[in-house]
Amino acid sequence: MKISVIGCGYLGAVHASSLAKLGHEVVGIDIDQVKVDSLASAHAPFYEPGLPELLAETLAAGTLEFTTDMSRAQGATVHFIAVGTPQQEDSNAADLRFVEAALDAIVPYLTPGDVVVGKSTVPVGTAERLAVQIEAVGAQLAWNPEFLREGYAVKDTISPDRLVYGVRSGDEHSVALLDEVYASVLAQGIPRVITDFATAELVKVAANAFLATKISFINAMAEVAEVTGADVTQLADAIGYDQRIGRRFLNAGLGFGGGCLPKDIRGFMARASELGAGDALNFLGEVDAINLRRRERMVDLCREVLGGTIEGARVAVLGLAFKPDSDDVRDSPALDVAARLAELGADVRATDPQAIETSRRLRPGLNYVDSAREAAKDADVVLVLTEWREYRAIDPSELDSVVSVRAILDGRNCLDPVQWREAGWTYRALGRP
Ligand code: NAD
Repeated sequence: MKISVIGCGYLGAVHASSLAKLGHEVVGIDIDQVKVDSLASAHAPFYEPGLPELLAETLAAGTLEFTTDMSRAQGATVHFIAVGTPQQEDSNAADLRFVEAALDAIVPYLTPGDVVVGKSTVPVGTAERLAVQIEAVGAQLAWNPEFLREGYAVKDTISPDRLVYGVRSGDEHSVALLDEVYASVLAQGIPRVITDFATAELVKVAANAFLATKISFINAMAEVAEVTGADVTQLADAIGYDQRIGRRFLNAGLGFGGGCLPKDIRGFMARASELGAGDALNFLGEVDAINLRRRERMVDLCREVLGGTIEGARVAVLGLAFKPDSDDVRDSPALDVAARLAELGADVRATDPQAIETSRRLRPGLNYVDSAREAAKDADVVLVLTEWREYRAIDPSELDSVVSVRAILDGRNCLDPVQWREAGWTYRALGRP
C-alpha cells in the first residue's frame, strides 16, 4: 500500500520506517529540511535504538523516502498525521496549529477514497471538527492514537499492545484500509478496538493520565516516607506484589517528563474545563504538582548534603534525558534540576550518554562534559538524575579518587545504597532514609 506520513519527529520517523519494514511504500514528509536530509541519508536526527538500522534497510530497499514536498503525498491512499501538539505557551491547552497546517497542506492532494489518519495526541473533539474539511473532498478521517514509548519505539510500533481506530459510525472503508496497513501487526493477534472519534482521542490522554497518576502516587508516598523514615522502594515492592496494583510505573524518584505526559495531562485538564467537566480532572492538577515538587525536593536534598550552601559548590549531574534510552529533554526533570542548581550558583558539570546536544539547544548556558568521570572531577556531590544502564552500573571505586567529597544523590532510586555506603560514600535518595 502507498502511504504518506506527515511529520517525521520521534513518532513519525519511526512510524514511516516501520510501515516500510512491514511491506508498504512510504513517503515521509516534514517541513524541516535539515531533518528530512538527515533521515534521507539514514541518519536518525534523534536517538532511538534500532531506528538507524531500520532507516538504512528500508531506504536501501527503496520502500521509504523522505521529502519536504507535500505534493509527493499524491497517489498514497492512507495519510498519517504525526505532527507535534505541544502545550500552548500561555496556557495548559494543546497547540493545534501544526495539525491544522498539516491538514490544510494535504487536502489539495487528496483523492476521493483516501483516508487521513490522525496519530498526533489531540484534545477530544478535534477529529469531529477537522473531519468536515477532509470529507468535503470525498476523503475520510480516522483517528489512530499512538502509544509508543521512546527507547522502545520501533518494537512498540511493530508489536503494539493494541490498535485503536476512531472512525465515523459505519465507516467500514477506513477500517478496511487500516486493517491493510496493519495486516502484519494484526496477524500477531494484537487486539484492535474500533470506536468513535471522541473515544479514540480520549483513550490516549486517559492512558497517559493513568500512568502519570501512578507515578505521582508513588512519589506522594515518597513525600510521606521522607517525614517518617520509611523506605518508599520497599513500600513499592510490597504493594506491587498485589496484582491489582502491579510493580510497573511505581518507581519513586524525580518524576515524569518528556514530550507527552506533562503536556498531555495539562491539555486534558484544559479541554475538560472547556467542556464543563473540569471537576472530573481536578486530581490531575495535584498529579502535576506532586511531580514538580520532586524537582524542588532534589534541590533541597542537594543543599542539605552540601551543608546548606549550593552557591560555589561543584555538582556533577549524571543524566539529562527525561528517561534512559532517549535523547529527549523536553520537560526533562533531570535537565530542570541541573539548570536550577546552576541558577543557584552551583558549578554544575552535566553529562548524558545521548542528550548533551539536545540539552545544549534548550540550556546553552550549562557546562556539559563527555563522561561521568569528567563530570565527577573534584565534585562536592554527584547526582544521578536519569537511570541510564551505565550509571546504574557505576562502581563507587570508579569515582572514589576523582571526587572531592564522596556524596551521591540517587534521583531515580536506581543505585544500591548498601554498596555505596560500604564504599564510604554518603548516599541519599528520594523517599528513602
Ligand atoms: P516532534 O516534535 O518530534 O515531531 C513533530 C514533527 O512534525 C517535526 O519534525 C516537525 O518539523 C513536523 N511538522 C510540524 N508541522 C508540520 C507540517 N505542517 N507538515 C509536516 N511536518 C510538520 O513530536 P513527536 O514527539 O513526534 O510527537 C508528535 C505527536 O505524537 C504529538 O502529538 C505527540 O503527543 C504524539 N505522540 C508522541 C509520542 C512520543 O513518544 N514522542 C508517543 C505517542 C504520541
